[in-house]
Amino acid sequence: DELISQIAAGEVVERPASVVRELVDNALDAGATQITLRLLAGGVRLISVEDNGSGILRAELPTALKRHATSKIASLGDLESVGTMGFRGEALAAICSIAEVSLLTRVDTDEEPHGWLLDGRSGELQPTARAPGTTVEVRELFFATPARRKFLKTDATELAHCVEAMRRHALARPDVGFAIWHEGKLSAQWRAVPGGGMTALRQRLSDVLGEDFIAQAVAVEWPSPDAEPLEYEGQRLRIWGFAGVPDAARSRNDWQFAYVNGRYVRDKTITHAARSAYEDVLHGHRQPVYALFISLDPARVDVNVHPTKIEVRFRDGREVHQGVRRAVESALAAPRA
Ligand code: ADP
Ligand code: MG
Repeated sequence: DELISQIAAGEVVERPASVVRELVDNALDAGATQITLRLLAGGVRLISVEDNGSGILRAELPTALKRHATSKIASLGDLESVGTMGFRGEALAAICSIAEVSLLTRVDTDEEPHGWLLDGRSGELQPTARAPGTTVEVRELFFATPARRKFLKTDATELAHCVEAMRRHALARPDVGFAIWHEGKLSAQWRAVPGGGMTALRQRLSDVLGEDFIAQAVAVEWPSPDAEPLEYEGQRLRIWGFAGVPDAARSRNDWQFAYVNGRYVRDKTITHAARSAYEDVLHGHRQPVYALFISLDPARVDVNVHPTKIEVRFRDGREVHQGVRRAVESALAAPRA
């Protein structure tokens, strides 16, 4: 069983950034509005994710670290329509098998008057003081598998990957505040943006990627907001976000962010569709840069393709390709103010 969980861990956890992604997913699933990441040595010595979410009940604590323990889906049927980031119940168990994990949590109800500290190794549980929320600490990643640890890059590189993982989350959730500390120093902070919608997204993009991205970006909204309501409801797909038209010198090949139902994905269909739109309208002079959010009926997309959930499979890829292409084309072609 130990071996099986270590193999599973290898699929979920490649490097510190994979842990960051899973822990932040969990914090968001728990309804957190403020998430703080603390790292030592690029995350290899310590990854700590603190949230102000719902916390975990004492009764559910021991199972949280067990394989296939998830509080998020009750049946296989639910897999068709997962609304949460997590659902496989694998991440915490996997991380436990390759690192030292502790969990400090307190529920946000009056059910329990104090928090609990759970030591993942010993299973020991201690009452502790804490505001509602959860802190998961992951120490000495890959301590038991030195071969894997050797594959890790420098601290600076691992830190950069962790920051990238946080960015991906931050763009999807302008309503949530994020902070990143490395070696005791604040390395990035993105304050929660009230209000929501395109205005909040614009602000968050500017905070996370800088003014350069947003200065010349155009809004993508498809179907367009002034489309007839009936026509609008007829659409299964909704696509929104921003597409940038920076000059070639400022183009970045890491400014392509795509999300499906709130989940960051890397998907050839989307990449290709966006690129086609740029080629059609701007004749290929520019590297596409964008943050695109696609929402569609959860039954029309399979997110359970890969353990890290970074790849998805669309039931109808053509529909998505056409949608993204049209959405980006019409945004780029629209006269700019
Ligand atoms: P999954 O997210 O797929 O359910 P995980 O292994 O990531 O599986 O987490 C296991 C369970 O632990 C979750 O279903 C949830 O009940 C609980 N949990 C983990 N992290 C948190 C958190 N930050 N806040 C509240 N509950 C959490
Ligand atoms: Mg999870």
